[in-house]
Amino acid sequence: MSDSWSKRTKAVHGGIRRSQYKEVSEAIFLTQGFVYDTAEQAEARFIESGPDEFIYARYGNPTVSMFEQRIAALEGAEDAFATASGMAAVNGALTSMLKAGDHVVSAKALFGSCLYILENILGRFGVEVTFVDGTDLEQWKAAIRPDTKAVFFESMSNPTLEVIDIQAVAELAHAVGATVIVDNVFSTPVFSKAIEQGADVVVYSATKHIDGQGRALGGVILGSKEFIRGTVEPYLKHTGGALSPFNAWIMLKGLETMALRVNAQAETAQRLAEALEGHPALARILYPGLRSHAQNALVQRQLGGKGGTVVSLDIKGGKEAAFAFLNAMTVPVISNNLGDAKSIATHPATTTHQRLSDAQREELGITPGLIRLSVGLEDAGDLINDINNALEASQK
Ligand SMILES: *Cc1c(COP(=O)(O)O)cnc(C)c1O
Repeated sequence: MSDSWSKRTKAVHGGIRRSQYKEVSEAIFLTQGFVYDTAEQAEARFIESGPDEFIYARYGNPTVSMFEQRIAALEGAEDAFATASGMAAVNGALTSMLKAGDHVVSAKALFGSCLYILENILGRFGVEVTFVDGTDLEQWKAAIRPDTKAVFFESMSNPTLEVIDIQAVAELAHAVGATVIVDNVFSTPVFSKAIEQGADVVVYSATKHIDGQGRALGGVILGSKEFIRGTVEPYLKHTGGALSPFNAWIMLKGLETMALRVNAQAETAQRLAEALEGHPALARILYPGLRSHAQNALVQRQLGGKGGTVVSLDIKGGKEAAFAFLNAMTVPVISNNLGDAKSIATHPATTTHQRLSDAQREELGITPGLIRLSVGLEDAGDLINDINNALEASQK
């Protein structure tokens, strides 16, 4: 593989390791362990294992390693550690580097499970977390202290699609030596340049766009070789968050078509958002690719103007209207994944963000009428017609 290859080429050929059969498609090494020729070899491998030497699938596996190297090449990261899910990646990135007494600054607009880790788990182990409005640089500036160890945010938040300025937050964090950890799911590996823009650690739920076909859970932590091998690997290999080789193979094959899928989905999302903007049934439409989006200038700079694959619709009439909308749609399915080939609609207030208090939801803009629509690979015209019909039904 050449470093000068573009993302599209790396997504197809990056990280490949072929067995003695020289198979074209990546092999699935569905094995938990590996045989040593001699006792001496086993001893040596436990002291230090080379790149083609494996011990136990909780530590590493050839198929998993192919996935790690392919996504690292794509993202422009030195190394990667694959995890059983996106949450194992978020938890692994944070807990592997933090200890009691540390201070973290986090954006408050977070996916429910991310919020649980930052709000409930870290505190139990003596880590202090300060929450800020991630779009307000003054709040980051005020919250980051000389002893801040890490900052954490979703570069595009779930489900209100706030976009956070990676470069500006990274400058503030790096001034005190803090590690910048970015949950980059909504920005996607296709549009993101997070590492180039200053992120030290990038986390993905591979369950989303990387698989992109709703089959398997997975996640990945990307960063420097020192962070991945020195901090993350020892934590994850002993705590058991490893990705299964079979799921790693699904993710590897997912990466090959990811750019085609995500570009097509984002194009449809843009068309849909433009078609629905100003619709009388909508109190708000949130899509980072719209000129009317609060951070659209940042989207131009940070993501090349790409707004991603999710559109959030705030339907007039609250929960009742939102439910009527969901029950009237015929193309998208009601579920809670995103980045899938199938369009998926979610009512965050009663599902993914149900755990939050009414006050928290209100503060985050998760209103009773809010629908998160993950745009799939269906025909844009079919989707726009269907959403228009469902919006009409929601107001009856
Ligand atoms: C889905 C998601 C996760 C969690 O990923 P899983 O694979 O479901 O564990 C974390 N962060 C964001 C922003 C997500 O959308």
